[in-house]
Amino acid sequence: MESVPLAEVAQAHGTPCYVYSAAAIRHAYTEFEVAFATLDPLVCYAVKANGNLSLLRLLARLGAGFDIVSGGELSRVLAAGGDPGKVVFSGVGKSAAEMVQALRAGVRCFNVESPAELRRLSRVACELGLQAPVSLRVNPDVDPGTHPYIATGLKDSKFGVAYDDAFALYQEAARLPGLRVVGIDCHIGSQITDLDPFVAALEKILELASKLRRGGIPLSHLDLGGGVGIRYRNETPIALADYARAVAPRLEGSGLGLLLEPGRRIVGNAGLLLTRVEYLKISPEHRFAVVDAAMNDLIRPSLYEAWHEIVPVRERQGAPSVLDVVGPVCETGDILGRGRSLALAEGDLLAILSAGAYGASMGSNYNARPRPAEILVDGQAMQLIRRRETVEDLFRNEWPMP
Ligand SMILES: *Cc1c(COP(=O)(O)O)cnc(C)c1O
Repeated sequence: MESVPLAEVAQAHGTPCYVYSAAAIRHAYTEFEVAFATLDPLVCYAVKANGNLSLLRLLARLGAGFDIVSGGELSRVLAAGGDPGKVVFSGVGKSAAEMVQALRAGVRCFNVESPAELRRLSRVACELGLQAPVSLRVNPDVDPGTHPYIATGLKDSKFGVAYDDAFALYQEAARLPGLRVVGIDCHIGSQITDLDPFVAALEKILELASKLRRGGIPLSHLDLGGGVGIRYRNETPIALADYARAVAPRLEGSGLGLLLEPGRRIVGNAGLLLTRVEYLKISPEHRFAVVDAAMNDLIRPSLYEAWHEIVPVRERQGAPSVLDVVGPVCETGDILGRGRSLALAEGDLLAILSAGAYGASMGSNYNARPRPAEILVDGQAMQLIRRRETVEDLFRNEWPMP
């Protein structure tokens, strides 16, 4: 990782652990800034992809805004020194307490996802004597061509408000005393590798924005959400320059500022999960490498049958064999990689690649497994940015009943 051998990371901090590259994160963030430069975008990093405080601070120092989906994520952003004035608050289930927290912090915009939420937000803001800046998350009914669990912009999705209902809801928002209408928002899904769905969504959203302007509800920004995919295996990710080239001419002259909410594209390829082979379990019926990382550390393969490249830290001589890389958790679905061709011995280190997004942040303590350490590498420097949990951490909030 950059100039630090992964064997040294394992030696210093043990396995399993997440290892991130600061340079890769800076590069990926800057790519958005550069590609969309003519539109002077606000790039709001989606905290749910990886909310580690050090990564948030690194991004805040680059000028990033943040897309949050809970009060907990807002607290993380503030603890990391993020600017609340650059925070957009998404999510279908914002509680009144979370609204109060975000209003007091002074977030830039609430991305509202339902009529009921709109009314509650107005009421909560009025009680505080404030006005909530809002945008409606509109569902453009565009198929992003991605895994059904991460498609979010279809009609039957739980996210956003239906395109055909949005105009009337904006009229209501404009009348509600606790609200100030500032924008429009969509987020059609994740790991999207085709430009067409983004363009289709943009055109529908722009049409609605101009209808709103004609109807006396001018907006100041358009938020295109996140969802830009990365290469895990053999995907061809969208070139951000192409994305920007599609957006710029359509947005110019609209008077709308641009917000983006990338998560995966900023941290996904910047991180890996480092793990050690515990056992080789090979018989005529099965061929397994049992490693010390598991589905509780990285759930994407079990949850979405996602592919993560798995490479040995040191290449070993000898014929590779085809095996499944599995973890110690008591679930048949605890598979990190199926049918991989690897030459391995017990004790070898493996790097599970592209694990920077939705890895650590989706981790759990299933099977009473402490969460792994997280390490940030920057050039020749390696820094522990989250210590490995201890078993005592796991039952800190419990006690055997008296
Ligand atoms: C998850 C999410 C994002 C980030 O998605 P990526 O695919 O990681 O870029 C952005 N906006 C919203 C509303 C989200 O729910």
